[in-house]
Amino acid sequence: MTLAYDTHIQYLKGVGPKLGDVLRKRGVATVGALLEWFPRAYEDRRHARNIASLAHEQIVSIEATVISVRAISMGKSHRKIYEIVVRDESGRISCKYFRVPYRGYFERFTTHQKVRIAGKVTLYRNKLEFHHPDIQLVSDDEPKTEDQLIPLYTDTEGLSPHKIRKLMTVAIDELVLKQKAVPEVFPLQLREKFNLLPRAEALRLIHCPPPLSGEDFLNYRSPAQRRIIFEEFFWLEIYMAREKLGLKREPAPALLGGRELADKLIASLSFQLTKAQIFVFEEIFADIQKPNPMHRLVQGDVGSGKTVVALLAACVTKASGFQTALMVPTEILAEQHFANAEKLLSPLGIRVALLVGSLKAKAHQEICEKLASGEIDLVIGTHALIEEEVVFKNLGLVVIDEQHRFGVEQRQKLKKNLTPHFLVMTATPIPRTLAMTVYGDLDVSTIDELPPGRSPIVTRKTFSSKREKVFQFMHEQIQKGRQAYVIYPLVEESEKIDLKDAISEYESLKNSFTDLKIGLLHGKMKSDEKDAIMNEFRQNKIQVLVSTTVVEVGVDVPNANMMIIEHAERFGLSQLHQLRGRVGRGEHKSYCVLILGYAVSEEAIHRASVIESTTDGFKIAEADLEIRGPGEFLGRRQSGLPGFKMANLVRDLAILKDARQAATEILIIDPELARAEHQLMRSALNEHKKSIVG
Ligand code: ADP
Ligand code: MG
Repeated sequence: MTLAYDTHIQYLKGVGPKLGDVLRKRGVATVGALLEWFPRAYEDRRHARNIASLAHEQIVSIEATVISVRAISMGKSHRKIYEIVVRDESGRISCKYFRVPYRGYFERFTTHQKVRIAGKVTLYRNKLEFHHPDIQLVSDDEPKTEDQLIPLYTDTEGLSPHKIRKLMTVAIDELVLKQKAVPEVFPLQLREKFNLLPRAEALRLIHCPPPLSGEDFLNYRSPAQRRIIFEEFFWLEIYMAREKLGLKREPAPALLGGRELADKLIASLSFQLTKAQIFVFEEIFADIQKPNPMHRLVQGDVGSGKTVVALLAACVTKASGFQTALMVPTEILAEQHFANAEKLLSPLGIRVALLVGSLKAKAHQEICEKLASGEIDLVIGTHALIEEEVVFKNLGLVVIDEQHRFGVEQRQKLKKNLTPHFLVMTATPIPRTLAMTVYGDLDVSTIDELPPGRSPIVTRKTFSSKREKVFQFMHEQIQKGRQAYVIYPLVEESEKIDLKDAISEYESLKNSFTDLKIGLLHGKMKSDEKDAIMNEFRQNKIQVLVSTTVVEVGVDVPNANMMIIEHAERFGLSQLHQLRGRVGRGEHKSYCVLILGYAVSEEAIHRASVIESTTDGFKIAEADLEIRGPGEFLGRRQSGLPGFKMANLVRDLAILKDARQAATEILIIDPELARAEHQLMRSALNEHKKSIVG
């Protein structure tokens, strides 16, 4: 049978029903999808190396013989580290795995086998080792491929690297060479102008890099990679550009009620707004008086005071006779905003309500009725706000707090088929170059100043061996009347990984510090339990809050001045920054201690050092980007953006600019993509939209 790009993968020669299943589970359902499964790296076989010549940080490939394979149990738990030691004539080196890629992975290896190891050389405790390298048996039927780059694909159970490469060759042979069945979405003119390879050619080269193309491929500078990266950016840019065009044309209520009520709120505050807060409010105020919807992102570091800016906007909305919905990612945060808003806004005659999933049916219904009849001016809630039965009388403003937790689609749903103004608030600052792309459909305001009088947070990283001292220090702080958070990466003990977990450590802390009131908070608790604990913590009835990352965003308890993060190596930079942002909110000197577990990587130590060295969220975001790469930094989960398969927002900034220019040029001449030569592009965009908004 002749194969097409969308032919089911099972019809590819060499794929039976069983392998078909394996591939489908990996997201490869069609032959085309197989071609879009890009190598995650290339093994550079151009320079054979021996073990003695290796150096820290090198990405290399070596051939060696297995000396031992063993699982090392760590401590009292069930966690294991796997170690494979190999040697060649020049020396020996150990390969460590802190997790198992899939069951049976290590059982493949026995002593005396010849293997090929590809990965990054790491210096750990003065010894060179590999952490999680690619390791393959050297099979005899493998072609001798000196002078070549070998694509490496993510380890997948039931599929040897050799087999993947074989399938790729067959697919390329069929689709690219024989059939010319790879659709080309970019018209020739665009390809010529931006110097892009045909798609088929690019796919072929990516899976079979030509000899002597080494450096270009390793650095993602080859024309083939550029074509695919360009494409990935192009879909995003054209989608964003069209969204923005469309949004600007929609009508929205002009909120013309004036700022009198907002000024009253300002006058009633116990503090003075910062210049940055006033400036950002002015920007919002100007936007919402226009008859087209505002789509504005407010970025401001943790503690910069975004909430009150949103409340000011809610005042203008109320004065204009419209309602405001404020959506947050957690119930804890919803409760906190609600308490705060009630205190500040009720005296001004603004009716505030809380709508969260845990409300009793009757209370829920009552609030829904009041929203529909217009008896509530500001509703604060979680995802519960998105539900269909929540209907507003006249929704004028939607505020989304900590938006990196919400995707574009949720924003759309919250519109309720109305066209309210949108205000999105985030404490995950994004370097300016990226903000335009990530939030291409939003205007960006920045609160670039913290309220005065905040005492700086002293941050220290340390190792488990110093735990006792850290907790002793915490004890002293509490005796001075302060409170503390202790954060764990896990809720409960896990068989698979040897990490301290909140529940058992809560028990053990209670035993060690019988004089302290210790509370436990985690995401698996019922919401009324969570509320009760949070309230007690707020009232200082609980002195130590043992928790998971449920307190990561937004929680504001100024008397808490100590944050201990256990297994700090398990958290990303931005997450550590957010967690630390829970302290340093009051007048007391604050402390954040990052406790690193055993066997942590150099990278984890580096992360902790970054947090130690600065409290500037923008600097941290930049470092985060550098370390993790934007794929994860701006990963789908965080930003509502699609994860790129190949593109990298930092490395490929120049390509991004080209793609943005291409998208803009096309939309100028053909905003609806109606022209004949744009038909394929249009349908491809619809396909990609699913992955962008989905
Ligand atoms: P975030 O930007 O992280 O959401 P919040 O809005 O929670 O910050 O504000 C943090 C704390 O700072 C709150 O207790 C808030 O009342 C207080 N705050 C906000 N603005 C100011 C200001 N201008 N001066 C002093 N304190 C302020
Ligand atoms: Mg906040």
